[in-house]
Amino acid sequence: MKSLIEILRYTHGLAKLYGGITLTSILVALTGIAIPFVIAEATNLMVEVVGGRSISLNQVLLLAALLFGFDLANTLIRNFGGYLGDMMAARLREQLSTVYYDHLLKLPQSYYDQELTGTIINRLNRAITELGNFLNMFANTFFQMILTIIITVAIILTYSWQLAALVVVMYPLFMWLTTLTSKKWQRLQAKKNHETDVASGRFAEVVAQMKVVKSYVQEKLEYRKFEKSYRRTVDITKKQSSYWHRMDVLRGAVLSLIFFAIFAYIFVQTAEQNFAIGDMVLLITLINGLRMPLFNMSFIVDSFQKAIAGSRDVLEALRVEPVIADAPGAVSLMGASGEVKFEDVSFSYGDKSKPVINGISFDLAKGEHVALVSESGGGKTTITNLLMRLYEPSSGVIYIDGKDISNLKQGSLRANIATVFQDPALFSGTIKENIAYGKPRATFEEIVAAAKASNAAEFIENLEKGYDTEIGERGLKLSGGQKQRIAIARAILKDAPILVLDEATSALDSRSERLVQQALDRLMKGRTTLIIAHRLSTIASVDRIVTLKGGRIDEIGSPAELSETGGIYSKLLSLQQSTGGVDKEKLAKYDIRSSL
Ligand code: ADP
Ligand code: MG
Repeated sequence: MKSLIEILRYTHGLAKLYGGITLTSILVALTGIAIPFVIAEATNLMVEVVGGRSISLNQVLLLAALLFGFDLANTLIRNFGGYLGDMMAARLREQLSTVYYDHLLKLPQSYYDQELTGTIINRLNRAITELGNFLNMFANTFFQMILTIIITVAIILTYSWQLAALVVVMYPLFMWLTTLTSKKWQRLQAKKNHETDVASGRFAEVVAQMKVVKSYVQEKLEYRKFEKSYRRTVDITKKQSSYWHRMDVLRGAVLSLIFFAIFAYIFVQTAEQNFAIGDMVLLITLINGLRMPLFNMSFIVDSFQKAIAGSRDVLEALRVEPVIADAPGAVSLMGASGEVKFEDVSFSYGDKSKPVINGISFDLAKGEHVALVSESGGGKTTITNLLMRLYEPSSGVIYIDGKDISNLKQGSLRANIATVFQDPALFSGTIKENIAYGKPRATFEEIVAAAKASNAAEFIENLEKGYDTEIGERGLKLSGGQKQRIAIARAILKDAPILVLDEATSALDSRSERLVQQALDRLMKGRTTLIIAHRLSTIASVDRIVTLKGGRIDEIGSPAELSETGGIYSKLLSLQQSTGGVDKEKLAKYDIRSSL
């Protein structure tokens, strides 16, 4: 219950719609409840006719017209309520989705290290569906139900308190039996949700990486895993549903018994002429009308349980604090010159006793190019992540232009850093949109200039639709070299003073390679650049090299200085001279490509 209120706090402006739905539902109840009275009146009239009294036909027709009027009003109001219900569901979907998305966009990278894309999406859909169902159900039936019950019981009370007592007992008994099923039902539902989350998570991954699946011929295995998850949900449903329905049979039986008592009582009273025929008809219609609210009550409990179970995971995600938040009084980094300094920085992803990097200090002067060299897994990517503040150092400080980056607005920090990653990671959309991703308001001339500088203009202009060519999800329709050049154009257009470069590990054909290299050289010119290099030629061309060993800095110096020290770089240089397979392996251990 608390969790439901908590999640509804994320929505707003629903109250009016909700009130409207409640009001219409009450009017529907009132027009509905009026009908048995008209019928009772008609019955009594007919009984009198049978008794020999003559009446005017107008009187009967008036009653029929009343029935028509109530019916029509009922239809009109019900449909207006339905319209409000649709609007409420749509608003709920809109608000919950945007709140969730907004929150997800603020969560740190570490959250995404643990969660699968498909799972994140599946949770949202479930929460929206179940919450929407519940709210609609509740608004449409709850007050209507309460009102119907109160009025009906009051009327019955004027005939017989015994009858009213029977009716009043029926509700709590039914509620009690319904909630009895609740705990077990919810537990099974959570299990089912988990299964579909896992399956959807995998589903999204497989769709995104279909190539890998196909090349390893794992379609069948993936299919079986998926199928198994869903088969388990069927198994759970079997348990869950049979349990629920067994309980429902019990509830139904109890109910039938009470109805039996009620009807027996009414019949006996009428037979003994304590009730008129019209009264009997009225009582039977009223009491029959109470069946619906009773079932509605169990539907409400049911959808309430589903709403709680369904929104639990979204709520959990919404409760995750964006641990890397802007510090109070954080300032914007405007037009940085691009000096970077790491001061005694340590960091671990989880286990504090095993730091990935340990007390690292080095700096980059404005416009300086520095290459990071370490064994694979030595912490190069981690260092660049820390610079972008995707993660927070466990100790030590990183400065840009002498300012501690943890006191900067994150958006402004990242606006000053352009990146080119190994995997160019383009979005679906046009080439133009992709290049302008960091500067959506760029003019077409600027986009073309960036494409020219990145050696991409030529191939783009040869495409039928040029810059308006759509590229598939992740740019599937482009070659590796083309994607890289678009990614470089994107970074050039961003025009940030600091550049983080994770060179592509896979070799391109030599012409592509030259084009990409030239594009990178243009991009790096005049920018402070931190490079994770995968070619010795790149490393040899930088201003300084930082080598890492065991999470600490081993050496810092210019390529010339480090070439003779016997350290990592000089070893790599000597390995490169040799052509032996073992040496190539050793190079690969340092993420260095041996083919040159
Ligand atoms: P490099 O880029 O030099 O190959 P990384 O910085 O990627 O090295 O990784 C350094 C270490 O941190 C590795 O042992 C890696 O397994 C670990 N690591 C990297 N990313 C994560 C992460 N998101 N969560 C936990 N451990 C990670
Ligand atoms: Mg790396």
